[in-house]
Amino acid sequence: MDHFHYKDGTLHAEEVALSDIAAEVGTPFYCYSTATLTRHFALFQEALEGLPHLICFAMKSNSNQAVIRTLAALGAGMDVVSIGEYLRAKAAGVPGERIVFSGVGKTREDMRAALLGGIRQFNVESEPELRALSAEASALGLRAPITLRINPDVDARTHEKIATGKKENKFGIPISRARAVYAEAAALPGIEVVGIDVHIGSQLTELEPFEEAYQKVADLTIALRADGHDIRRLDLGGGLGIPYTRSNEAPPLPLDYGALIKRTLGHLGCEIEIEPGRLISGNAGVLVSQVIWVKQGEGRDFLIVDAAMNDLVRPSMYGAHHDIVPLIEPAVGAAPHSFDVVGPVCETGDTFAKDRALTDLAEGDLVAFRSAGAYGAVMASEYNTRPLIPEVLVHGAEFAVIRPRPSYDEMINRDIIPNWL
Ligand SMILES: *Cc1c(COP(=O)(O)O)cnc(C)c1O
Repeated sequence: MDHFHYKDGTLHAEEVALSDIAAEVGTPFYCYSTATLTRHFALFQEALEGLPHLICFAMKSNSNQAVIRTLAALGAGMDVVSIGEYLRAKAAGVPGERIVFSGVGKTREDMRAALLGGIRQFNVESEPELRALSAEASALGLRAPITLRINPDVDARTHEKIATGKKENKFGIPISRARAVYAEAAALPGIEVVGIDVHIGSQLTELEPFEEAYQKVADLTIALRADGHDIRRLDLGGGLGIPYTRSNEAPPLPLDYGALIKRTLGHLGCEIEIEPGRLISGNAGVLVSQVIWVKQGEGRDFLIVDAAMNDLVRPSMYGAHHDIVPLIEPAVGAAPHSFDVVGPVCETGDTFAKDRALTDLAEGDLVAFRSAGAYGAVMASEYNTRPLIPEVLVHGAEFAVIRPRPSYDEMINRDIIPNWL
């Protein structure tokens, strides 16, 4: 459930008409709903009630300072996958002890920055990383709290580009080698083993792959404890899928996911960490865009909108579906009109939807791409010298621009002409 709905015939985010925001900031823009972010975070809190836990928002899904601050104020920790995200979390006021650092390619420089700035744990993904982290921590007179990210060789049954838990994926340490690597970790002077980490993929629409992975984590916890390791924290990653269409999809609910965690891992007495991104931010955001032209092609009509693949890359990158709805509520029984919805970028890949049944739309009409709060703004680029689009946060009846649209001068003046030109 989210807080985008028609009211008085026009699409609102909470109490604010999206057309009012469009009039003020121009299109295209991203709009996020505070109430929806809050609600989704609360669903996870509820789901894990009774277990000691920390919900670490996966910042890679949406890393705007205002979004992070909204969630941090509710008690969220943060899962970061780069030192840039770490610095963003810190800048938003998240203390180091609520930040976990994931990712396969942390550099020594990243490690030092996080060690000095304070960190809850590093989720270590390889032996070279483990050894380097020990050396860097030792040099600073510290011990780095770590989990090892285990690759459980489980098929997440999701899009191949976002499946991360199979043995052929670059992520984690093969579970078959886990005990040996834990033994090495325990012997390293700069390392303090605190737990186990696993993350098998994103947009999972079934619970079974989680169950399979978490069962393996439970078995490994027991084995590692028998080996003498103090496994007290289990980081279970993110990945719970969301409905991208209003009609037929029903991915598992956080409550059922929580029950699964309790059933598979609750008896171990560990603190549970989860790293949801998409489920918190995805349906908390829309991308509002304006129709530039309606163009008649051969056997099809193109709706050319002012948003493009550089603003929302998921359709061209993953073949992802986003519901598209007009800001003016269509009349009941309005005749459907099918469009190919495309952006202005000079690539055929700049296509949001093919043969999409919408109602009749005309030049100047406004539409919203739903479910765009996760992996939307964060994946945007300036391809075709298109400015990064503004982000707006709604809070009840108020809204604020939380990242402005840059001017063309700002974009152009970042380039430097060398002195021989
Ligand atoms: C991407 C990612 C997440 C978040 O995944 P969602 O599907 O957005 O919940 C969590 N943890 C790690 C390590 C990730 O790479």
